[in-house]
Amino acid sequence: MNESTALLRLQEIDLALLKDASTLAGMPQQAKLKNIAAARKKVESQLTKILGQRKDAQIELDDLKDALQHYKDVTAEVQAEAVEGTKTHREVRDIELSLTHLAKQIEKTEFELPVRQEALDKLVLAEKNANLMLERLDAEREATQASYDEESAELKARIRSLSAERDRESAQVGAAMMERYEAARKRFRGLAVETLVGNVPTVCRVKLQPSQFHDLSHGPEVTECPYCHRILIATEQGE
Ligand SMILES: [Zn+2]
Repeated sequence: MNESTALLRLQEIDLALLKDASTLAGMPQQAKLKNIAAARKKVESQLTKILGQRKDAQIELDDLKDALQHYKDVTAEVQAEAVEGTKTHREVRDIELSLTHLAKQIEKTEFELPVRQEALDKLVLAEKNANLMLERLDAEREATQASYDEESAELKARIRSLSAERDRESAQVGAAMMERYEAARKRFRGLAVETLVGNVPTVCRVKLQPSQFHDLSHGPEVTECPYCHRILIATEQGE
C-alpha cells in the first residue's frame, strides 16, 4: 500500500472515529448519568445536614428527659424531708415554695417534651426519606449504566477496531508526512487530505488552471493544494 492510499484511508478512519466519539458522548445515558450524579451529591449534602440536626435534637430531648427526672427526684427528696421531724413555720414555708417551684419546672418540661419529640421524629423521617432517595438514585444509576454499556458495546468495539487499523495505516506513512497530516488535520478540522476529480480538488473544489494541473500531474504524488493548502493527492482517484 502506498503513502497516498494510506493517507486517504487514515483520513476516513479519523473522520469515522470523530463521529463515533461524538455519538458516544451524545448518548442520552451519558447526560442521565451526569444528572443522577448531581442529584446524588445534593441529597448527600442534605443528608449530612439532617444527620447533624437529628443528633442535636436527640441530645436536646435526652437532656430534657434528664432534667425532668432530676426535678422529680428533688421533689421526692423535699417531700421526704417535709415529713421528717417538726418544722418551724419558716421551714414549712420554704418547703412549700420549693415544691411550688419544682412543680412549675416539671409542668414546663412536660409541656416541652412532646414538642422536642416531634422535632426529632420529623428529622428521623427526613433522614429515612433521604436514604430512600439515595437508594432510588443508585438503582437508577445502575440501570442507566447497564443500558449505556449494552448500547455502546458495538460502537466501542468499532472504535477499538478503527484505532487498530489507524495504527497499521500510520505505519505506512513516513514520519514527516505523518506530522504534516496531523497538523493539517487540526487546522482543517479533520479534512486534511483531498484528491483530484478531473482538475478539481475534492474538498476546496477550486478548479485548477491547466498549467497548475500540468505541473501537479508531473510532480510528486503527494503534494499541496495551491488554493487551500491541504495535502493533495495529485493522481486522479475517482470516477
Ligand atoms: Zn484545495
